[in-house]
Amino acid sequence: MPSLIVLHYTAMNSAQAALHRLCDPAYEVSAHYLIGADGTLWQMVDEKDRAWHAGAGSWHGQTDINSRSIGIELDNTGKHPFPEPQLTVLDRLLTQTMARWSISPHRVIGHSDMAPGRKIDPGPRFPWQRLEYLNLAGQRGRNNDPQCASMRTFRTLVENAGFPPDVDDETLLAAVRLRYRPWANGPLAPADFVPLASKDR
Ligand SMILES: [Zn+2]
Repeated sequence: MPSLIVLHYTAMNSAQAALHRLCDPAYEVSAHYLIGADGTLWQMVDEKDRAWHAGAGSWHGQTDINSRSIGIELDNTGKHPFPEPQLTVLDRLLTQTMARWSISPHRVIGHSDMAPGRKIDPGPRFPWQRLEYLNLAGQRGRNNDPQCASMRTFRTLVENAGFPPDVDDETLLAAVRLRYRPWANGPLAPADFVPLASKDR
């Protein structure tokens, strides 16, 4: 029974090209859904069945994400904004799927969240704050003022949030920023702690 939803971008130039690859057994990749840039929705795998979209990684210590998740691919090269018609369909699909399987907003994650250093989709342009506002992704913290802005404290907060612990500091920071502060760079800063304040996971 799925308990997690993983969002991806296709990194391809068209939905047709992505559809072709996602339906070709030779590639050994599949997903439950693909949403075209124009909002066309394709279902390729039944929600009850396993798809091959997540690969190696973990969330809250659970591995084999493919066996416990629904994968949604968004037609996007990774270099373009996500168009409104596509996001509208994503909102509706998430609302329905989350209700069907009682999946909480904190269980809607990006591929990069569960596979830091290996995957960067749905990428820095994905509008996480929109999903958070609609309660379709976990709300970020707003005013956590770290007592001690050390990497050790950061790692504890990040691992409590669900991110995999088995990656180096730099890779983990990059993954967390991709989700919450996509255009930030430089060393660990107090601002990196703010979104991690939420305890409701
Ligand atoms: Zn992906």
